[in-house]
Amino acid sequence: MRYRPFGKTGKMLSALGVGTMRFNLEEADGFENAVKLTLEAVKRGVNYIDTSFGYLGGQAEKIAGEAVRRSGKEVYVTVKSNGLTDISADACYDRIRASLKSMGLPKAQFFILWTVLSYDDFVKMTLPGAAYEGALRAKEEGLIEHICMSAHASPENIIKIMRTGKIEGVTISYSVLTPHIFEPVLRTAAELGIGVVTMNSLGGGLIPQNPDVFSFVKQDGDESVAAAALSWSYAHSQITTVLSGMTTLDELNENIRAFDKDENPAADEKRVNAVNSSFSGVTGFCTGCGYCVGCPAGIDIAVLMQAFNAIKFTSGISDYRRKDPRLLENIRICYRLNMISNFMPPDTENPCLKCGECENKCTQRLPIIKRLDEIYRRFDESGYSEKHIADRLKSIFAVAYKKVAFWSASLYTKKVFSYFQRLFPSLEPELFIFDKNEKLWGSVYDGIRVESPDKLLEIKPDIVVISNYVYSEEIYEDIKRYEDDGIRIVKIHAPQDVPWLF
Ligand code: SF4
Ligand code: SF4
Repeated sequence: MRYRPFGKTGKMLSALGVGTMRFNLEEADGFENAVKLTLEAVKRGVNYIDTSFGYLGGQAEKIAGEAVRRSGKEVYVTVKSNGLTDISADACYDRIRASLKSMGLPKAQFFILWTVLSYDDFVKMTLPGAAYEGALRAKEEGLIEHICMSAHASPENIIKIMRTGKIEGVTISYSVLTPHIFEPVLRTAAELGIGVVTMNSLGGGLIPQNPDVFSFVKQDGDESVAAAALSWSYAHSQITTVLSGMTTLDELNENIRAFDKDENPAADEKRVNAVNSSFSGVTGFCTGCGYCVGCPAGIDIAVLMQAFNAIKFTSGISDYRRKDPRLLENIRICYRLNMISNFMPPDTENPCLKCGECENKCTQRLPIIKRLDEIYRRFDESGYSEKHIADRLKSIFAVAYKKVAFWSASLYTKKVFSYFQRLFPSLEPELFIFDKNEKLWGSVYDGIRVESPDKLLEIKPDIVVISNYVYSEEIYEDIKRYEDDGIRIVKIHAPQDVPWLF
């Protein structure tokens, strides 16, 4: 493991720092496994753990504290105070004490003023009686040693804040996606003796998910694009520590190997130059840096812009047996929104007020307003909104049928059921499920018996709703002959729809 001095703090920090947001607490023994993973990192030379009361519902700082206590080594940890909510000195001071109590530690070496969105915000935080004063009090009492900040402000604002002389270290997003933007921050930090920790080195997962696009990051001897991206960050001499969130021992091992090299400034410089000169072709996408927060219309811009990245980058997801290129793009956009951000708009009216504030703040100078128009246009054409779903179901169930059948027995049907029950609480038709899979016949699915197709005429439902996305056309071709027997058959999806469930 390599170590570098962290600004003027007198502390040597490991090249790799443990980020504590990606532990898998869903698995059995998730907490204990996360502690063991952190301990293994410490055993291998990591001495910096970045944590916060806000990560993993408060579990992250407990894991960090437990690992530090069990390790018996000198390991540096962070405590954070939210600049948006811990506004007063008392609130900030209380937050520090609460975090230390939760970690079971007498002190944290680094206090991080978190979510500093602008220079003006920072000025407010340092007024008499405001958060910074609470941090100073904690420092005087020995609860923390160094006051730092995690910046979500523009590079110009970060530089202004650093020049106030009030912080000893800064945590910034830095990856191969942003070097041209944040290079001045690194230069100024070095000039002022301010330590730099970097986060988001893998561009929110974008870099490893698109190894072909980012293959230029790899240099001789790098085992993967992800490892190369970490090595590239650390190749900047101004950066002390590169944070990485880890879930498995394999990931930890890969990360450690990326830093398991001797100091070699000439090789580092060559790596930085080689990557930066290849970078110019990759532009125009959201890095997830979050500098656009604060939309007056309440739009989570980063979430939508990152989903729009899917137009430029493939994500390896299924094509759901669709061929139309534009529909496939819509599927990729909505997949990300649905699966990663759990986002579906209530309707397809774009709420953007077109004030332009976000575009002024965007580090990538993205045409956010134009992209939002495009995204909402795509939601509209692909039926991706709560209103579209409600309208579709209302049009299908405009008649109060007595016998309703769904085709097929799947999670998808379950999702359609839940919409149906929510939208039509007073309708109580007799319900059936049909499926071609003979293994499912006779089983009870969501309280409803699964029937074989040859029972269709015997049961004779008023309507069969094909609640299947992937095989919708094939199912329809198979059963459309029953329309001659007076059974209405409808496909729940229009041809240009994206799935309602991924
Ligand atoms: S332009 Fe639209 S998205 Fe951007 S900040 Fe204004 S309202 Fe929000
Ligand atoms: S839209 Fe711009 S400012 Fe916002 S997260 Fe993406 S790159 Fe950063």
